[in-house]
Amino acid sequence: MKILISNDDGYLAPGLVALAEALAPIAEITVIAPDSNRSGSSNSLTLDRPLSLQRAPNGFYFVNGTPSDCVHLALTGILPIKPDLVVSGINQGQNMGDDTLYSGTVAAATEGFLFGVPSIAFSQVEHGWQHLDAAARLARDFVERRFEKLQKPFLLNVNVPNRPYEDLTRIVATRLGKRHMSEPVIKMQDPHGSDIYWVGPRGAAKDAGEGTDFHAAQQGWVSVTPLQIDLTHVAQLAALKESLA
Ligand code: MN
Repeated sequence: MKILISNDDGYLAPGLVALAEALAPIAEITVIAPDSNRSGSSNSLTLDRPLSLQRAPNGFYFVNGTPSDCVHLALTGILPIKPDLVVSGINQGQNMGDDTLYSGTVAAATEGFLFGVPSIAFSQVEHGWQHLDAAARLARDFVERRFEKLQKPFLLNVNVPNRPYEDLTRIVATRLGKRHMSEPVIKMQDPHGSDIYWVGPRGAAKDAGEGTDFHAAQQGWVSVTPLQIDLTHVAQLAALKESLA
């Protein structure tokens, strides 16, 4: 099995190293990741400058671009053969509900999916990398035990609680929840007296009821959400047709 691995925290991130180490024994892996932290970069591609590909001493490749750039490059010119699977992560921090639209971790997986390759994004629920070894082992188990059974191609968003491996006993299928609107921007002044702004923190969970990714994570369960890319609001389509007639 050939697996392409990427992330959005950058090629030096502990989550990427742990994921690569966990998957190496069960697959032929290639790691291509951004040269710096590109969290929140969503599905952006770099179109205003060329990209470079460099190889780190540990064999990982890194690109001066986004997670989507990395997977795009890999699938359209660098890898000699299409991989069987794209795996992204393990991200530092949850990607649930509306986060999935902004996430570079999910975007790397999405890029694989857009090219017809089954893809999985893995995130740890809390920041700080606690129990990263457990999340990495969970990721390997998931690939090893579930890949054959899953309907392909798939795009899965997996959130793993920061718990010891023994406590990651329950894996549940979920839908995305929803968050409240983000907190306001934080206004500051730079050393020269000009106003600057930090984008504020994301909102708290709003729809976190049973069946959602938020709910699963709250129970300490591993949440797996199947994603799709078609944003068409099918339920509104008929009404729109009528109003445009
Ligand atoms: Mn990230």
